[in-house]
Amino acid sequence: MIYLDYSATTPVSYDVLETYIKTSKDFIGNPNSLHSLGVKSKTLMNSAIKQISDLFNVLDSELTFTSGATESNNMALVGVALANIKKGNHIITSKLEHPSIYKICEYLETLGFEISYVDNDSDGLIDFEDLKRKIRPTTILVSIVAVNSELGIRQPLKMIRQIIKKENPNTYFHSDMTQALGKIPVSFHDVDLASCSAHKIYGPKGIGLFYKNSRINLVPLIHGSSKEQSLRPGTPALPLIVSMAKAIRLSLNDIDRREAFISRLNDKIVKELETYPGILINKTKYSIPHILNISFENIKSETFIHAMEAYEIYLGTNTACASGDLSSSVLAVYKDKKRASSTIRISLSYLTTTDEINKFLSCFKIVYNRLNALVQK
Ligand code: PMP
Repeated sequence: MIYLDYSATTPVSYDVLETYIKTSKDFIGNPNSLHSLGVKSKTLMNSAIKQISDLFNVLDSELTFTSGATESNNMALVGVALANIKKGNHIITSKLEHPSIYKICEYLETLGFEISYVDNDSDGLIDFEDLKRKIRPTTILVSIVAVNSELGIRQPLKMIRQIIKKENPNTYFHSDMTQALGKIPVSFHDVDLASCSAHKIYGPKGIGLFYKNSRINLVPLIHGSSKEQSLRPGTPALPLIVSMAKAIRLSLNDIDRREAFISRLNDKIVKELETYPGILINKTKYSIPHILNISFENIKSETFIHAMEAYEIYLGTNTACASGDLSSSVLAVYKDKKRASSTIRISLSYLTTTDEINKFLSCFKIVYNRLNALVQK
C-alpha cells in the first residue's frame, strides 16, 4: 500500500498508541474525582497540559481539548460571535479556508452576523490592502487559515495580526492551524485563538486543541457542571489528552529536516507531472511541500483516484471533508472553474519513501495514459 493522503489524516504513531493504551489501563480515575485515583489522573492530565503549554509558551488555562479542529473552529467563531454581539456583527475570513469555517459562517449569517471574504493574490497570499479596507469598527473577528488544506498555501500570520491590530485593536484574530502544526513552526503568540487536531500529526482521532488568549471571553458551545474546564465541561478524555501531548511533542521534532526531505519528494513529483500535457500543477511560491495539488484537463479526479486505488495507492481529492465539490481553493487562486473542477491532492509525510514515490509515478503514468486514451476516443 502507498498512502499519499496524509493531509486527510495520518496513521497514529506506535509510541502514541502505546501511551494511549497505557493511560487507559493505568489511569482509570476521573480527573474530577476527589479520591486518590482521581488525583492520580488529574496529576497526569496537568502534566500533559503543562507539556503542551511549555512547548508553545502559553498558559495552561489558555488550552482546551476538543474533539478535533472542526469543534475548535466552532468554539472560536461561534464563541467570539456570541460573546461580542454588543461590540459588532462583522467577521472576516479568507477564500482559502477549510469547509468547516464556511459552514460556521453560514450558520452565523442566520444569526445576523455579516461575513466578508478577503481577497488573495495569484499566489494565494492574503491581500493585505483588501484586509485593511475590510476591517470596520464593528469587525469582531478575522479568521485566516495558517496553511490551506488543498494547495498547502501558507499565510504570514504575524504580519496579518499586525495589520488587524493596527486597523482595529478590538478585533480578534483566529487561525485554523490544523495543517500547519507539525509541518512548519507555529506560534500561538501570532494569534488570539487557534485550532489544531491530533489526527493530522500522528495522534489519535477524536481529539483537538483550542488555544484562546486569557484576555478573551467566549460563550461556550457546551454547558455542563465542571468549573475548571468551563469551555468544554464533561469528563476529560485523559488517554486522548496524554496521547495528543505526546503527538505534539513528537511532531515538533526535526521539522526542518523532515521538510527538506519532503521537499525533495515534492520536486521529484512536480518535475515528472509537469511534463504531462493534460495536467496543471497547482503550486505557488507559498505552498508547503507536504501538500501537492494538481488539476486534470480531461480526466475526472474521482475516476483517477479509484483507478489508482487498484494499485493500492491512496490519494485525496480537494479536502476529504468536501470531496466531490469544486475546489474552492483552486478557484480562489487561479480563478478558473475548469481548473478547479478536477483536482487531486498528493500529500506527503516524512514516512513517505523515495521508493514509494517512484512506484507512484510509474502507476500514475499507466493510469493516466489509459484514462486519457479513453477520453480521446
Ligand atoms: N481545518 C483544516 C485546515 C483541516 O485540514 C481539517 C481536516 N480536514 C479540519 C479543519 C477539520 O479537522 P477535524 O477532522 O479534526 O475536525
